[in-house]
Order: sequence, then structure tokens, then C-alpha cells
Amino acid sequence: MKALIVSATKEQPHVADVVLPPVGPGEVRVRIRAAGVCHSDLSMVNGTLAPSYPLILGHEAAGVVVEVGPEGPGGRVDVGDQVVLNWAPPCRECWHCTHGEPWLCAEGGRPSAPRGRLASGEATHVTLGLGALAEEVVVPSHAVIPVPADLPADVAALLGCAVLTATGAVNRTAAVHAGESVVVIGLGGVGLATLNAARAAGADPVIGVDLSEAKRDLALAAGASHFLVSDDGMPKAVRGLTGGRGADHAIECVGRSATIGAAWRATRRGGQVTVVGMGARDDLVSLGALDIFHSARTLRSSVYGSSDPDRDLPALAAAVGDGSLDLTPLITDRIPLEAAPDAFTRMSRGEGARSVVLFD
Ligand SMILES: [Zn+2]
Ligand SMILES: [Zn+2]
Repeated sequence: MKALIVSATKEQPHVADVVLPPVGPGEVRVRIRAAGVCHSDLSMVNGTLAPSYPLILGHEAAGVVVEVGPEGPGGRVDVGDQVVLNWAPPCRECWHCTHGEPWLCAEGGRPSAPRGRLASGEATHVTLGLGALAEEVVVPSHAVIPVPADLPADVAALLGCAVLTATGAVNRTAAVHAGESVVVIGLGGVGLATLNAARAAGADPVIGVDLSEAKRDLALAAGASHFLVSDDGMPKAVRGLTGGRGADHAIECVGRSATIGAAWRATRRGGQVTVVGMGARDDLVSLGALDIFHSARTLRSSVYGSSDPDRDLPALAAAVGDGSLDLTPLITDRIPLEAAPDAFTRMSRGEGARSVVLFD
């Protein structure tokens, strides 16, 4: 089968032939129908997440189960089911899983796992246990979540990473209430989905911030009431839109100390800063000790939207199905696998929203 591979840190991804292992007990084989190109895949390519190579990219996807392992599906899924892949399937046994925090499962967090081999015989690894920018994956059955067969595959794919992350950050981590003001910094796929979720939560105003003026129309289509180009005056501009106070919530979707600092300054006294972006180990955030006390702000991170995908993803699928959640503004490019390397280039330049690879 064909898959998008990166051979070493900072090399250009390319399509290669890969042989997957046979389906083992407790596993399923899924034929991928649609897979998103997510910023975390770029973090695999540029080495921020230090995976093993050669690496099959991709972790945001939907497909159809085509084979179940020797033990059978265990009642969870069956051949023919449409499923969304879950890159952080909780073990349900560790301390965090048994204390209502499955997104912090002790078994999760590894950037790559060994699976498959190239035509040359060299062993390959898969991103976040999945490797979903590929025609097929072989994964544990608890890493797939069934969704209705009539859910469009491109939208279904987004539920597995960008949308679960964004809606969880808004509704669970930050717990945004109707009428609160929200500023979202960094408008890639997750940032745009966060605008969408903030609007759906009744937030007002919903302010989108990005370095690129070209994101204005995407931001407004995704649910922003206002758009600001990111610069040193952004926190002041946010105060101007929020009664002079600053936003009740700032949600940072970049993962850089500069934008986390900007999010902090754009938030009102007593407000909340939620960091969704995944940054680098050596990028240090500097806050004044007096400012921390005086501002009375809360700074927290949102891992996988503080969500339980088995519980929350079917609810999102239902919301798409009944029309209450419209994700179509988030997808700017529908492309074949061969065009995926260009999508990485566009993403590294900060262009567009989500590119989704279609396999049908
Ligand atoms: Zn992702
Ligand atoms: Zn666990």
C-alpha cells in the first residue's frame, strides 16, 4: 500500500510503498478514506517531537474497517463500519484513566511506534500509533471509534484531532460560557476549529488573531466576529473590543513563548489563558512574579481537549449529522496523497486551513 513517509528529520515527505503486518489479536485493519494534514505531522517532520524514522505520517483520519483480528472485534466494531482513528486511546487502567483524566493516560504520548516495512525490507514507524496518511492502517481496535456511515469522510477525519481538540479546549478545558469574550491566537486548522467552537458556545466577541491578513476571511467564515493581525499592539486592540478589560479567555493555538505571552496580556484580570499549541522544550515563557499575582489570571494547557474521545467524538459526529456543527469552512484543500508534500509546505508557511487527503 502507498503511504506518506519522511525518511529523516527535516526531509521532504514522499509517497512510498509500505507493507503492513498481518492483523493480530485485538487489532483491526482500516482502509483510509480521508486523512487531514495536521500541524503535529509537521512537528514530526521538523523533529520537534523526536519520532523514529523512517516514519509514516498522519494521525487525523476516517476510514472503513476491512478486517478484524483473530479474536474478533469484541463487539466494538465490525467489518464495514466507518470509523474515526483515535491517536490517544486510553488504557482505562492507569491512575489518570481511573480518575477521570483519560487524556493524560500514562500509556500515551509516544510520538511513534514501530509498524510495517518498506519494499527494501527496512522497518518503518507510524505517527502516534497510527500512520494514517496511508491507504491502510493496522491499529488496536480501541484506537477506532465508530461513526455513522453517512458522515462525510473528510469531515469525519477532522473530528479525530483538530475538532476534538478545539471543541474540548473551549467547552471542557476553558469551559467557555455564553456571553464571555474569547480571543483565539494562531488560525491553522485547530485555531479555526476553536473559533467555530467558541461561536457555538455563545461566546461574544470571538476574536481571531493570526500573523497573516490572508486568514481574515477564513476566520470570519469559521465563526470569528472580529479579526486582528498579530503584532505588538494586539493585546491593546483586544482590550478595545472588550470594554477595556481584556478577554475573558485567550486560547493559544501556536505553541510559542511569544504568543503565550501575547495571550496572557490579551486576557483580563482574573481571566483564563488556555494553551493548545504544542511548543518546543527550550522555548521558555517569561512572566513577572508581581504580574502573576496582580493579574490573577489562570494559565493551563489543554491536552487533546481534555476529552474522552470514546464519549465525546460520537457526540460531535451527531452534531455534524443534525447540522448544528458545520465544519466545511475548515477544509480549504481536498487533495490526492501525491499532493500531500505540497500541503506540508503550505502549512509550514502558515497558508490555508486544513488540507485533507482523499483516497476514494
Ligand atoms: Zn493533529
Ligand atoms: Zn491510562
